[in-house]
Amino acid sequence: MNYRTTHLTQASINLDHLSHNMHLLQKLAGNRPLFPAIKANAYGHGSEIIARHLIQLGYTTLCTAHISEAAELAERGIQATFIILSPTLPENSDYIIHYGFQPVVCSLEQLRALAEVASGQEKQVTIHVKVDTGMGRMGLYPEHVPAFLDECSQHHNIIVQGICSHFPRADENDHTFSQNQIDVFARLKKDTARHNIPLYHFANSAALFALQDAHFDAIRPGISIYGLKPSADMQLPELEKLKPVLSLKSRITFLKDVPAGTGISYGHTYSTENLARIATIPVGYGDGISRQLSNRLEVLACGVRCRQVGRICMDQCMIDVTPLGNSVSLGDEVVIIGNQGSETITADELAAKQETINYEIVTAISQRVPRIVDQ
Ligand SMILES: *Cc1c(COP(=O)(O)O)cnc(C)c1O
Repeated sequence: MNYRTTHLTQASINLDHLSHNMHLLQKLAGNRPLFPAIKANAYGHGSEIIARHLIQLGYTTLCTAHISEAAELAERGIQATFIILSPTLPENSDYIIHYGFQPVVCSLEQLRALAEVASGQEKQVTIHVKVDTGMGRMGLYPEHVPAFLDECSQHHNIIVQGICSHFPRADENDHTFSQNQIDVFARLKKDTARHNIPLYHFANSAALFALQDAHFDAIRPGISIYGLKPSADMQLPELEKLKPVLSLKSRITFLKDVPAGTGISYGHTYSTENLARIATIPVGYGDGISRQLSNRLEVLACGVRCRQVGRICMDQCMIDVTPLGNSVSLGDEVVIIGNQGSETITADELAAKQETINYEIVTAISQRVPRIVDQ
């Protein structure tokens, strides 16, 4: 018996859509390599499923945020080159060397610790040097990069494979700031040419779509591989070709007709105005659907948009299925994100209602929701 099939809320993952999106991104990138970002459980999509499919498609360099994320995949037998995007502390250098990960380095402490541990084990570490051209998060200022590279070249076991930077505003329609960053990075590329570093990489999804000059030698796309736009404001024809990889579905577990004036859920923030048919679905903030969406969420049942009513609980919430009449039954499918009939609910719709971004909506889908590959 497989108890997993009893879990009624599931994220279904459409790998054909993932293939489609990668094909689209590769067309934009030309012959440059893509290093897909699969951090945070592949933006909530299930990093093992996504990593295995990307590798099958030939994408064998993958980005995670943390050592632990890459190590978990490596322990499950996934063979890839992992770039660790976030800074690592000196004390964890031995993990990087043990697994052969490629850290992004931006401090002397980090560099020296890596060099020391590696030389103790007679191993080499391949690194990427991070430059802060305006993100304001991590990285060396451009003027400090040449001296840093000089220090790198003094450590015989440090191989600098790349120089990278990141965009804080590439998803905006005004590209003034991003263009300035690109100019700084291009100048740095010239100024460091004598180091013969193989890859200068800068572009995230937004820059891949909107900023041709930002493509340099490799691209690190994240959100777009999952078929989602980097920002609701971006209006480019190519972006409309993306296909969402994830759908979130559940089932009706309880159905009841209630009289007018019935309070629904904690705090009775909603009361029925008339006789109503109320369904319960096993989706709550424990699954990553924010309580902030209470009384604002809509879901699909019988191909019709239905309002979610009352507070969203940890494990359940209620929907008003009165308009469906007798066509609705216990066990019916309910779609929270995805298609049903001719209706669609997108992660962007939830994001707008929650005043956040689609990244947060999909990444929030919690561990207990099984990720099931669409057959
Ligand atoms: C997450 C991340 C990316 C991918 O960004 P998207 O906007 O999801 O395409 C690229 N580079 C770095 C450094 C990141 O942290």
